[in-house]
Amino acid sequence: MKYLPYIMLLVLFGCSETFDKDNWQKNRSVKKKISRKNCDITIEYSQCIPVTREPYSWEKGYIGKIPVITKEFFRCKGNSLREIKTVEKEDKPPSYYFDCGGYHDHSLPIRDGREFIYPVLIELLNFVQIETQKEVVISSGHRCPKHNSYLDESFSNQYSKHLIGAEVDFYVKGMEQDPEGVIELLMKYYQETEPFKEDEHYRVFHRYDGSTNVSTKPWFNREVFIKFAREDEGRNLDNQHLYPYITIQVRYDRDLEKRVLVEWDKANHNYKFW
Ligand SMILES: [Zn+2]
Repeated sequence: MKYLPYIMLLVLFGCSETFDKDNWQKNRSVKKKISRKNCDITIEYSQCIPVTREPYSWEKGYIGKIPVITKEFFRCKGNSLREIKTVEKEDKPPSYYFDCGGYHDHSLPIRDGREFIYPVLIELLNFVQIETQKEVVISSGHRCPKHNSYLDESFSNQYSKHLIGAEVDFYVKGMEQDPEGVIELLMKYYQETEPFKEDEHYRVFHRYDGSTNVSTKPWFNREVFIKFAREDEGRNLDNQHLYPYITIQVRYDRDLEKRVLVEWDKANHNYKFW
């Protein structure tokens, strides 16, 4: 209670200013005219010239209405929701295979620190799109080792070029039943494009007589090996559709000037998990 006098003083003198109502009314009622002369210029403006808008980045990547193929189209098509695959073998315990989570889980193959798909595959598929004005559908691009084994656990498939971004399976919308017509266009790329049209190693294609998993003899030049699978051939989970499909494998690396081979380390340890 000894602080009570001080508190009373604060209450009494804390708000010493009083509201002057008459003065406020007088100031409020003062009116002044705002005026300017004709020659007064406050904002200078230039004549408006219409400008064409630059396309946004997502509008540039089209051939007509078809998206340009980029390496993004080659991402692994694994799906971790698929059930475990069990393979029974004679006199051996069963083997179990799990699918990967696709592009949610991991990158494309890495080369020189960046995600990499052999550029010739992208060039060829876009050439087909330009020539046909039809959309290329990639059913199988890069496959990580987990997804690759889930599709086909055989020993020979463990050296698939899909593992290193050097192989693609696809068909063309609107030309589903004409894979040979599409293959003619792939050859046309080498017969009409500089510098390949001057070089018979690229311009001239040969037929392959060795054994394959398809009934039609494949074609090859120095750089690529091309085959197609009929409706009842070469099916796996990536190619579960009703059409024939075309496969392009890269044989020769133009930049490194050497054959493209699947090395175990590059195929199995050369990609990143997110
Ligand atoms: Zn994968």
